[in-house]
Amino acid sequence: MGATVEQALEQLKSTGVRMTPQRYAILSYLMHSMTHPTADEIYKSLSPSFPSMSVATIYNNLRLFVEAGLIRELTYGDDSSRFDADLSEHYHAICRSCGTIVDFDYPPLTDVEAAASKETGFKVEGHRMEIYGICADCTTRHNH
Ligand code: ZN
Ligand code: MN
Repeated sequence: MGATVEQALEQLKSTGVRMTPQRYAILSYLMHSMTHPTADEIYKSLSPSFPSMSVATIYNNLRLFVEAGLIRELTYGDDSSRFDADLSEHYHAICRSCGTIVDFDYPPLTDVEAAASKETGFKVEGHRMEIYGICADCTTRHNH
């Protein structure tokens, strides 16, 4: 697991971003969540405590956190980005049935990057690798 909410707040302060109760709530929600939520899911969880907060506010703050390097955005080619406060190197397994995203550890595929660089002449900056399938919960549910 990565930094604590307090460490993240210090980092944010150093970039000149003012901390507000809403920002604190969004950031701590994300840092305690293992589900890689969308802006909409965060909105649904926090709106009872912050009735004046809109999805747009949440989204703008998430953008801010991404730019400050506090969280990662996971894009899937549509408008439903998911957000991950775990900045450690890890891969994701994604359920094609329910959409759940599960972390898994595996040594970074640096040999693949090296092979790609050798074959294409690219100066490789990174890669993206995801596992798709049906999660354990969905498999159980379908077998009943
Ligand atoms: Zn599933
Ligand atoms: Mn993750």
